[in-house]
Formats: sequence, structure tokens, C-alpha cells
Amino acid sequence: MDRRKFVKTTLAAGFAAGFPAIYGCGEKATVATEAERGIAAVSLDGAEIELVRAQIRELGEALSGPVLLSGDAGYDSARKVWNGMHDKHPALIARCRNTRDIRHAVDFARDNDLLLAIRGGGHSWPGKSTCNGGLMLDLSEMTNVDVDAEDRTAWCDGGALLGNLDDATLAKGLVTTAGVVSHTGVGGFTLGGGFGRLNRKYGLTIDNLLGAEIVTADGQVRMVSAENEPDLFWAIRGGGGNFGVVSRFRFRLHPFDRNVLSGLIVWPVEQARDVLEFYADWQGGLSRELYTGPAMLTLPDGPSVIAMEVVYNGDPVQGEKELAPLRAIGTPIDDGVKVQDYKVLQTHEDATVAHGIRSYAKNGMVKEFTQGLVDDMIDAFIPDPRAAIFTHTCGGAVKDHGELDTAFPHRNAETMIVYFTGWMDPEQDADGKAMCRQWHDALQAHHGGYYDNIEQETAGTVSSNYGPNYERLREIKGRFDAGNLFRMNSNIEPA
Ligand SMILES: Cc1cc2nc3c(=O)[nH]c(=O)nc-3n(C[C@H](O)[C@H](O)[C@H](O)COP(=O)(O)OP(=O)(O)OC[C@H]3O[C@@H](n4cnc5c(N)ncnc54)[C@H](O)[C@@H]3O)c2cc1C
Repeated sequence: MDRRKFVKTTLAAGFAAGFPAIYGCGEKATVATEAERGIAAVSLDGAEIELVRAQIRELGEALSGPVLLSGDAGYDSARKVWNGMHDKHPALIARCRNTRDIRHAVDFARDNDLLLAIRGGGHSWPGKSTCNGGLMLDLSEMTNVDVDAEDRTAWCDGGALLGNLDDATLAKGLVTTAGVVSHTGVGGFTLGGGFGRLNRKYGLTIDNLLGAEIVTADGQVRMVSAENEPDLFWAIRGGGGNFGVVSRFRFRLHPFDRNVLSGLIVWPVEQARDVLEFYADWQGGLSRELYTGPAMLTLPDGPSVIAMEVVYNGDPVQGEKELAPLRAIGTPIDDGVKVQDYKVLQTHEDATVAHGIRSYAKNGMVKEFTQGLVDDMIDAFIPDPRAAIFTHTCGGAVKDHGELDTAFPHRNAETMIVYFTGWMDPEQDADGKAMCRQWHDALQAHHGGYYDNIEQETAGTVSSNYGPNYERLREIKGRFDAGNLFRMNSNIEPA
């Protein structure tokens, strides 16, 4: 596919005959003019272009997965992403089943100057894995996870979900850091950093990344690791989807007893000061085994609460001892902390944030959990069931790596505060976004940058947020994607 594959004029009739049956775009033979016309699309820089149908047909023949166009069976479900606010219509969806398919799709997008979105798990809050008029390169059928129990490593496909990774590793008595909702994609999650309930002991997910297979903008398949293409390996550990499509990740795994001391302790929000003041003093001395942090929210049936999620990744007897002072605070409404399957907590939020929810999120990295932060958290609380704040507790092994060791820049933070709003009615979009921003802005003085994977408004802030890593990222981006093919992300400007 070395020709330019789009035209800006109406297409000649000849090449269109016969293709609908192959990739199922459903036009009738009698509608000749429809079939003759090219497919309207959008270029990388947003110009209107037209794709030649014969070349789309060629792509369909080259791929082992289907190429879907508007009107095809499956197109409407394939174009959906997690956040219901992003209802976009790609010109075509290339459902890839292997690395070869990914190469073809990347070549097609590049040769046609076509806007390209990569869909892993589809969880991008700002909807970066879909687009209007471009090519959605869909990895959702690439979900295989191969665990080597002896070697304690796993190869995980670029479209796998965190639930696939957890299931495959836990079955062998192993684990690596994965996030808190099991239908999140391993792809975007890992490339941005990867926070989860085990990160205080094992570090971020990128700290457990041993290598990856990546298709870069030139269509080359590269194996990257600390030894091979180390710059690219450095860049994909925090630099997001800027550098290519990762077809497979290789993770380090850790022996793990899935029966862990874990669960939630819940207090009425009126006790928030007692809980937060205690936590601010106590959390600096937590062991690496203990992951716990506050959330403030309002339940659908009314009461507002403050909750602490707990995972103790170690001997439960030790865990009980370490937790005792927290459990002695105030009068909890519920204390569900007990030895139970790790998967209980790893899936307990899945239904609350199911696909189709309309949602907005912002966050801030916090270096110190101060009493000033406690005061502001209490003052800023919004008692609305559509709004919540959560924390991802960091510290521990996350701090074992320096700011420059990987592209992820916020090693010094103790906590990430996530401001989340979610609703179903499109009429509430403005309200939902405003609430999230209001809560975020009220606590902004405590933030030092943000976690790129959970942020909606990155325009103009990408370079400052990457701080001292930005120039190196730009240089690597310039080397591997000078034309900025991979731009549906928090975009790093090629040097
Ligand atoms: C409900 C929910 C819970 C979350 N919980 C956590 C959490 O616990 N910890 C945490 O750290 N984050 C969490 N996140 C944030 C999450 O890490 C990001 O949304 C992440 O981008 C999701 O990855 P994805 O593959 O599902 O997303 P997608 O929307 O598919 O992709 C996101 C970005 O990554 C790129 N991308 C995806 N896969 C690949 C690939 N294989 N190769 C190259 N580029 C790719 C896409 O192009 C896009 O730019 C959560 C998000 C949601 C919505």
C-alpha cells in the first residue's frame, strides 16, 4: 500500500463494483451512485477528504478482522466507547486481530493522511479512542493473556481489559498492579502509568512493564525493552499512545495470595473531620502492604458518606494490627474489611461505572496530605449522588523510581485526588461538568500537576505537566512519529 489512498474528487465507477459483499457495508447494487462515491473522511489536520472505496476494500481483504463502515451490522456497537458523552462516527473501523492487522491499519491511515484513533478498552475519559470521520483502529478482539508461571511474566494483548489480566494471572497465583475497575483497558491504562490497589508494594503498572511489541508510524514492528530501543521503552512508560500501537505488553508478575484482607469502612459524612484528620497524620507511616485512602460521596438513596477502601497485601494478622487505629475512629456505618478474594474489590465498582454512563473527571497529584487539605475537602464537599471524590494512594514503591526514570513525572505524590461526576441524562451534561470543575478548583491549591490518564482538559498543559521529561518526549516523538499520526491523546509535539 504505497500509493496515496484518498482522492478529493468523486470517484470513477469501475473499482466500486463488488466490494460491499466483502466488507459488508450494505449498499444495494441498484444504488450505483452511492457505491461509486468515495467515503467522506477527515484528514489528520481536520480537512475534509474522500477515501477510495477500492482501497478500503483492499484493507478489508488484508485484515483478518472486519472493516466496518456506517450502515454495517456491528458498526454502531463497535464505535461506542465507555463515556456516553462521546457519540462519534468514524469513517471506518478496522477491527484488528493480530499485529499484522495493526500494521495494515496504521499504513492505511498514514498513507491516506487519515485521522487515526486507537481503541484499547475505550475508557478514555475525554473520548480519545474514537473520532468523527477518521479511522478507529479497534483492538477490542485482542484480549489474550499468556502467563509464564515459572518465569513470573505475562504477555498481554494491547486490547485486553484489566479483568482479563487479573483473571489470567490470579489463576496462577500471581499478580501485577492493575486498576480499580475491571473493564478498563490494559492499553491506555499502562501507557499512562497505571495506578491500582497494589501500587504501594509493586509500583505503578509501568514499573512492572518489562517490554512491549509496538507498531510505530512507519508500520515497523519493534520489540522494546530496557535493552532494545530503550528510548522508546522509556517514552511509552507514561507518554500515552503518542508513539505507536502497542500490540503486546510484557509484565513482571509477583506471587500473590488472592485471599487478602480487604473491603470498605464507611462513616457518615458528619464524621469526615475525625476520619480525615486521623488519616492525614497516619498515612505517612503506612507500610507498603497497606493501601487505603478516603472517598467522599453521596449514595443514590440519600446519605452522604466518607469511605475508606482497604487492601492489605500481606499477612492478615499483621494487617489487622496496622488497621486497628483506623477502625477505632468514630462510629462506622459499615465495616466490611475481611479476608476475601482480591477480585471482590477489583470488580465492586464495575456496575456503578458501567459502559454508557456520561462522565467527567479531573484530578490532582498531592505531595502531602495536610490538615489544610482536610479543611478544604470538608468545605468543598458537594452532596450530590452524581459527584464523588476518590483518592489513589501512591507513595511506597511508586517512589522507588525517580522523576526522570520513566516518562511518568509525578513520582513524589503521596495521593492522587480524583474528582468524578457521572449521570445518564444528556440534559445534565453542563451541570455534571460544572460540578466536577467546581470541586476540583476548590482544592486546586493542593495539587502539583495531574495524572494524564484521568483528565479531561489537557489543552495547553501537556508540556508543563510532563515537566523535565517533556523535551525528551518531544525528541523521541520526532524520531518515531514526526508526522504526528498518533495525535488522539494528550499530544506531545514532535521535535
Ligand atoms: C471507570 C474508570 C476507572 C479507571 N480506573 C483507573 C485506575 O484505577 N487507575 C488508573 O491508573 N487509571 C484508571 N482509569 C483511567 C484509565 O487508565 C484511562 O482512561 C486509560 O486511558 C484507559 O485505557 P483504555 O485502553 O481503556 O482506553 P482507550 O480509550 O481505549 O484509550 C485511551 C488512550 O490510550 C491509547 N491506547 C489505548 N490502547 C492502546 C494501545 N494498545 N496502543 C497504543 N495506544 C493505546 C488510545 O489511543 C487513547 O489515546 C480509569 C478510567 C475509567 C473510565
